[in-house]
Amino acid sequence: MVKQTIQIFARVKPPVRKHQQGIYSIDEDEKLIPSLEIILPRDLADGFVNNKRESYKFKFQRIFDQDANQETIFENIAKPVAGSVLAGYNGTIFAYGQTGSGKTFTITGGAERYSDRGIIPRTLSYIFEQLQKDSSKIYTTHISYLEIYNECGYDLLDPRHEASSLEDLPKVTILEDPDQNIHLKNLTLHLATTEEEALNLLFLGDTNRMIAETPMNQASTRSHCIFTIHLSSKEPGSATVRHAKLHLVDLAGSERVAKTGVGGHLLTEAKYINLSLHYLEQVIIALSEKHRSHIPYRNSMMTSVLRDSLGGNCMTTMIATLSLEKRNLDESISTCRFAQRVALIKNEAVLNEEIDPRLVIKRLQKEIQELKDELAMVTGEQRTEALTEAELLQLEKLITSFLEDQDPESRLEVGADMRKVHHCFHHLKKLLNDKKILENNTVSSESKDQDCQEPLKEEEYRKLRDILKQRDNEINILVNMLKKEKKKAQEALHLAGMDRREFRHSQSPPFRLGNPEEGQRMRLSSAPSQAQDFSILGKRSSLLHKKIGMREEMSLGRQEAFEIFKRDHADSVTIDDNKQILKQRFSEAKALGESINEARSKIGHLKEEITQRHIQQVALGISENMAVPLMPDQQEEKLRSQLEEEKRRYKTMFTRLKALKVEIEHLQLLMDKAKVKLQKEFEVWWAEEATNLQVNSPAVNSLDHTKPFLQTSDSQHERSQLLSNKSDVNARKILPSPCPSPHSQKQSSTSTPLEDSIPKTPVSSIPLTGDSQTDSDIIAFIKARQSILQKQCLGSN
Ligand code: ADP
Ligand code: MG
Repeated sequence: MVKQTIQIFARVKPPVRKHQQGIYSIDEDEKLIPSLEIILPRDLADGFVNNKRESYKFKFQRIFDQDANQETIFENIAKPVAGSVLAGYNGTIFAYGQTGSGKTFTITGGAERYSDRGIIPRTLSYIFEQLQKDSSKIYTTHISYLEIYNECGYDLLDPRHEASSLEDLPKVTILEDPDQNIHLKNLTLHLATTEEEALNLLFLGDTNRMIAETPMNQASTRSHCIFTIHLSSKEPGSATVRHAKLHLVDLAGSERVAKTGVGGHLLTEAKYINLSLHYLEQVIIALSEKHRSHIPYRNSMMTSVLRDSLGGNCMTTMIATLSLEKRNLDESISTCRFAQRVALIKNEAVLNEEIDPRLVIKRLQKEIQELKDELAMVTGEQRTEALTEAELLQLEKLITSFLEDQDPESRLEVGADMRKVHHCFHHLKKLLNDKKILENNTVSSESKDQDCQEPLKEEEYRKLRDILKQRDNEINILVNMLKKEKKKAQEALHLAGMDRREFRHSQSPPFRLGNPEEGQRMRLSSAPSQAQDFSILGKRSSLLHKKIGMREEMSLGRQEAFEIFKRDHADSVTIDDNKQILKQRFSEAKALGESINEARSKIGHLKEEITQRHIQQVALGISENMAVPLMPDQQEEKLRSQLEEEKRRYKTMFTRLKALKVEIEHLQLLMDKAKVKLQKEFEVWWAEEATNLQVNSPAVNSLDHTKPFLQTSDSQHERSQLLSNKSDVNARKILPSPCPSPHSQKQSSTSTPLEDSIPKTPVSSIPLTGDSQTDSDIIAFIKARQSILQKQCLGSN
């Protein structure tokens, strides 16, 4: 058992605007516990925070200042926890702090750069690397991803996510067994055998979370996400299985309701969040106070799920994320205060070992059989029932392998069952007799041959010799013909081969790289000694591709609008940058793959040369009557050192290629996610534009009368979507959106002088196709284009 208090760390986020001096200081004297001092500027101390103190000091295990990178965070915070999970203990890492303080950045990572990947992808990488190294145990890894929003649990990996909104999914519910163990109903566990598979699941969950999010339901700041790695391990042959869970938790923003300053529905939500975090606080207060017998875990879903992590069987770590800017100081102070309480909680982690009943049954059955045999021997009891067919077959197999075993020490183990012993003797006797008969037959047939030969006359003998000679000649001629044919074929092949060498060369290497943009399959070698192809993108394409494939279903007008939207979107720069990096990485991987192939064939040649050299030396030794050449062969030594050098080179390149492969996979997933985000934002914007068009355009209004705009089921669906998105437009006013939302209502209803200068296509003069869906697409597109043009003109002025 390991007793440990919850470890607390602090991480300060780099400021968005330029650094404000003198707000905080970090004291990291090696002999003392590190402390963070938050200094309130006078203006704040006098008014906003209602007391006279001007500075607050908080102790942490370690404090990571703005410049700490993701690697440092992983090495210092997550790696030790992952290590204990590999040893069989439960672990939890949770990030706590106000919205925007860097919780998601710390737990999952940034959305742009590979170097910004957070604790989850790095931990997955580390765990799978360790599992690969340890061949003494059999490991199984499962992943689950739970989101808790407004006290309801949702499975982010539920395959039905594609079809439904968050609220339509079956809720994950908590069940408690008589031993008070928590079970989560409707939360799927997904087997992940490789790092890539696990990473795909992470991105799938994140993408699902993003898709479910609407401006009204900003789940990312108001929900808690728990990514769990379930690890089981077992030694081969042992019936004991170890289970360990690692929860990586991105909590909802810890800001207070008063500060969010919103009303209505959003206030209800904010209260909920506070309620949920409030219950977390209550649990933590109860745990940090001695002599409290009742801990109110059951009050909320999150505390129920994390019961073991808080004061139970788990090694838990908290990261307090801080955005130490002037306007956030009160929130930062309350985050630190929360952390100080958390640090008082003691956990007791034990190894979670369980006996696998199936394996125990097998072992016990064998033991019973052995004991029965022994008993029968001791008591002299005769067992009379005949051996079964299967038992007989098994015995005969044992005898065969016993006879074939060259080891003089090998034994024929049949236990103490006399029936089996007897059967073995019988069988051996039979084998022996069979062999004798066979030998006799051979001997007699040989002697018969001899008998036949004796009366052969001299003349017949000569005849046979002539025939033999004839046959020999025939064979020689045929062999010569064959040789000639073979030579011809080789020459022809060689000529053709020279022409096609380029082509063949590109086909033969095991390193085939797809086009990075297409996200095709990439095959890389996986073991230094043996070329083994594997695909890194199989699952990714099937899971995420469906989501980015939505565009193919768009009408042409919409597609064109999408292109323009994309071009103007801030994220497109990131996507393009990543595309460039991806291209570079791909060509680097390709070049590396080729060098690896070269190195491999060089290694093969060197090995061949060494063998040849060795044979020559031995032959030389024999011809000179020496068993082993006395002098070490310098040429061979040289070849060997060359071989070693080549092997080293191969290994270095291989390691680099492996790292590249992970990077490429990650970048592709980041890009896929960014594309889904872009598309989603486009849909929202498109709907807004279409709604405005309906409200403001007389052409469309008249279209509405003359052509049944809403008759097809598709357009009905579109309309209901549009209508439902109207509320989004309102919500957007409260929550600014990053998308280039060229709204709209004012611009399209009232004309400014600037607008007049922009050439407009009168909507009513557009030749319509008669298809209401396409028509509305075209009109909406033209409107959208005008609106973008206006925006651009405004920007350039
Ligand atoms: P939270 O999840 O707490 O609401 P985020 O993780 O989304 O906050 O961070 C808000 C923004 O700040 C994001 O754009 C993120 O990339 C950025 N950010 C957060 N922490 C860091 C950091 N340590 N270094 C650089 N950027 C950061
Ligand atoms: Mg977040």
